[in-house]
Amino acid sequence: MLFDMLMTGVRQTTGVDYKYWSPAETMPYKEMKRLQLARLREQINYLWEKSPFYREKWEQSGFCPGQLRTLEDIRRIPILHKEEIRSSQEKNPPYGMMRVSGRGPFIRIGMTSGTTGEPVLIPFTEEDYFGDFCEGAVRSVWAAGIRNDDVVHAAFGFTPFLGLAAAYDCCEHLIGALVIPGGIWNSLMRLTMIKKLGITVLMGTPTYILHLAKVAEENGVDARSLGVKKILTAGEPGSMSIPNTGLRLQEAWGAKIFDYCGTQETHYLAWMCEEGVGHMNDDLAYCEVLDPDTDEPVPPGQSGKLVVTDLVGKTHPCIRYETGDLVKGIDAGTVCSCGRTLSVMKGFMGRVGDIIKVRGVCVSVAGIENVIRGIPECSDSYEYIASKNNNGMDKITVRVEPKRDVDTGLWDDLRKKVAQKLQLSFMVNMDVEVLPPGTLPEFELKAKRFRDIRPPVADSGVSCPPDKKVTVKV
Ligand SMILES: [Zn+2]
Repeated sequence: MLFDMLMTGVRQTTGVDYKYWSPAETMPYKEMKRLQLARLREQINYLWEKSPFYREKWEQSGFCPGQLRTLEDIRRIPILHKEEIRSSQEKNPPYGMMRVSGRGPFIRIGMTSGTTGEPVLIPFTEEDYFGDFCEGAVRSVWAAGIRNDDVVHAAFGFTPFLGLAAAYDCCEHLIGALVIPGGIWNSLMRLTMIKKLGITVLMGTPTYILHLAKVAEENGVDARSLGVKKILTAGEPGSMSIPNTGLRLQEAWGAKIFDYCGTQETHYLAWMCEEGVGHMNDDLAYCEVLDPDTDEPVPPGQSGKLVVTDLVGKTHPCIRYETGDLVKGIDAGTVCSCGRTLSVMKGFMGRVGDIIKVRGVCVSVAGIENVIRGIPECSDSYEYIASKNNNGMDKITVRVEPKRDVDTGLWDDLRKKVAQKLQLSFMVNMDVEVLPPGTLPEFELKAKRFRDIRPPVADSGVSCPPDKKVTVKV
């Protein structure tokens, strides 16, 4: 019954007092696997018929839909790289050959940030957007306890970045909360309006929400007095991946922190329940964690690169899409205290390019940030730099700032403390520099904290040997 209902696209059964947004959230594990396989087969048959892009790519690799007998057979499908989408869109602007012809009209466009090249465009029909993308998103908002009596403020400017915009749309159109945009407000105006309008929920990047609390403090306002009860973060790794960033947000605002993540090319992938656990939208996207060196699956729960297959989108679905993210791992087949049976996302380690390997150990932005944000004397600002020492070995320098009330006479103690905690966490010695407060760049939306000044080499060292995969402790 449930299987049939989900297969025919009926997904939402919510009512005002309903705990879960979708029955998929509590579907027994075996049933979910059956649903995933049925949806995968349907998706692949559809694209084999409708998409010359995939047909050509798959035929060249020797794959045909008849080879899909089990979920494990997904490995027979070749991996899709962002560069393929990009070059297809350059040759056939604006949407490239991956767009299934005849689909439309479009009501939303997703656009990647373009940090690794020309932005990639993702067109959405109403069905794709509200039926699939927002279906993944609204679960995160609902699980955070946001209801129609909340006043939600989106603390970001509208761009074709759908990660936050979809949560906005869900609050407004699916939940019926009062949603207040404020993209052009400066931080002081925003703080004033939070109090004046009785805003109960803030949405934004962790970097910006922390920045906003700092602006409040600098202006003699305690952010905890403003009445914000819940904070939803996205756009960069938040509390699901970096627990100490979550604790800082919680402390600064006195609010409960929820984090969610995904890719614009595929879906909302994971979101936090009230227990602080990251749950995945298993019925909408099939996620694999692969060894970066071999593309083979890692053992269950282990870290590796994230490859995602869109099981439901029909206009621009990505199949076995290499996201460029390294994750700490995915656990499946468990039941959370909240009652959900969905797989558990253990968090993101960072973008592949932001991770460096020193003496065989992977050092990630998430790992470093968690250490620094766990030290009360450190401000929120930091950066880390990869370079070479005199012997040509890779080395990492971490630069931190003390909080303004830390006496300069204690800075050297702080330097030693940071170095010791990093050493304990990574088992690698890193150089630590303590800089006067205000020296490091401040970020208002997404932070860029890693600089690589090593001379270019053929092997950038971003992949982790199997025996060192779990050394990052966060
Ligand atoms: Zn849960």
